[in-house]
Amino acid sequence: MSYVDEVLERVIAQNPAQPEFHQAAKEVLESLRPVIEANEAEYRRDALLERLTTPERQLLFRVPWVDDKGQVHVNNGYRVQFNSAIGPYKGGLRFHPSVNLSIIKFLGFEQVFKNSLTGLPIGGGKGGADFDPKGRSDREVMAFCQSFMQELYRHIGADTDVPAGDIGVGGREIGYLYGTYKRITGLYEGVLTGKGLTYGGSLARTQATGYGLVYFAEEMLRANGTSLKDKTVAVSGAGNVAIYAIEKAQQLGAKPVTCTDSNGWIYDPDGIDVALLKEVKEVKRARLTEYAAQKPGAVYHEGKGVWTTKCDVAMPCATQNELNLDDAKALKANGCMAVCEGANMPTTLEATQYIQANGMLFSPGKASNAGGVATSALEMSQNSERLSWTFEEVDVKLQSIMANIFRSADAAAKKYGMDGNYVAGANIAGFLKVAEAMKAQGIV
Ligand code: GLU
Repeated sequence: MSYVDEVLERVIAQNPAQPEFHQAAKEVLESLRPVIEANEAEYRRDALLERLTTPERQLLFRVPWVDDKGQVHVNNGYRVQFNSAIGPYKGGLRFHPSVNLSIIKFLGFEQVFKNSLTGLPIGGGKGGADFDPKGRSDREVMAFCQSFMQELYRHIGADTDVPAGDIGVGGREIGYLYGTYKRITGLYEGVLTGKGLTYGGSLARTQATGYGLVYFAEEMLRANGTSLKDKTVAVSGAGNVAIYAIEKAQQLGAKPVTCTDSNGWIYDPDGIDVALLKEVKEVKRARLTEYAAQKPGAVYHEGKGVWTTKCDVAMPCATQNELNLDDAKALKANGCMAVCEGANMPTTLEATQYIQANGMLFSPGKASNAGGVATSALEMSQNSERLSWTFEEVDVKLQSIMANIFRSADAAAKKYGMDGNYVAGANIAGFLKVAEAMKAQGIV
């Protein structure tokens, strides 16, 4: 049996009931086959893939907290410190009822390669809790964040592990988490990113994932002889990634016509009104029905169906496995030419294979959504030098990082005879740097 198959069997046997983690491991290891085969004896002797697929440390902890009525709740807290070969663990915290160890491990595993691809010195980790902030008061969210940090603080630090936001964790949550860390440790340090601008946050961090996605999409389209200008774009999600992807796509002359939340989706034939979307989601924290109520011409659809929209480019920016094989077929039938992932692993393996086999361009999230974590690394740099850069300085760096990520993935795909396969290219380019660093540091 080949080394890749052996390790995939081991991942499944040793991590039962973790389908998302199996999926991420399969997607990465399958596409690394040519590199692994060229170095099989050495990698096998060093158990490189076993080490790569086993987190350095997995923390599971109890998070008790009291709601506004005096009721005590208990949630599960997680931090998986996956790989620190190229830098301190770095990756977001997700607060969502679906969070479990499988989800956190898939995200942490993806983060290792994503962070490597940015070219910046950050290792990979991920964390979160099965807490649902939806419908909770600010006081309740604060109580939860304080309890979560009362355990997490002992495992993190500006030079060891630097969490940030993800689904359900935005500026408000980072603020409460930071305040608690500072109170317990007495340290005013860059231990979290995505901080507010008054206490060490970076300009452009809020926009970075969405903007970066669009910069990447533009690079990819240009390399394939076209651009975003005048393209109709279907976007899913209505969070931080989706909002700023829509904003930047409009600035580049495209027309994003959809967005979604967990209940339904908006089709706005005139193009999404970003100011209204921000008002509904960022200020009121309301549902998208509110957008439809305020925007003449916009149609609200209950449930799923966003990928039946006629579009040139699809940008899934909501969550994992939100775009399946039927969705990919619907996109193809409607003439869609490119799928650019803004979320982490939003496309199922079957859908990805269909998209690639049917002549559509495809960019994996670990490449096209890396602008968020890359800008987090820029926030760490600013915190270390105790300075803050202008929006333009950060944005220019972000643009060049996204262009470099595209070039690295493109070059690696070409080098291994898979021209245009940016999944393989991103995985290979991300892997090689981590593998080299692991080799140099010995068996640890
Ligand atoms: N949660 C984001 C991601 O998936 C950002 C992580 C970070 O900034 O550390 O990459």
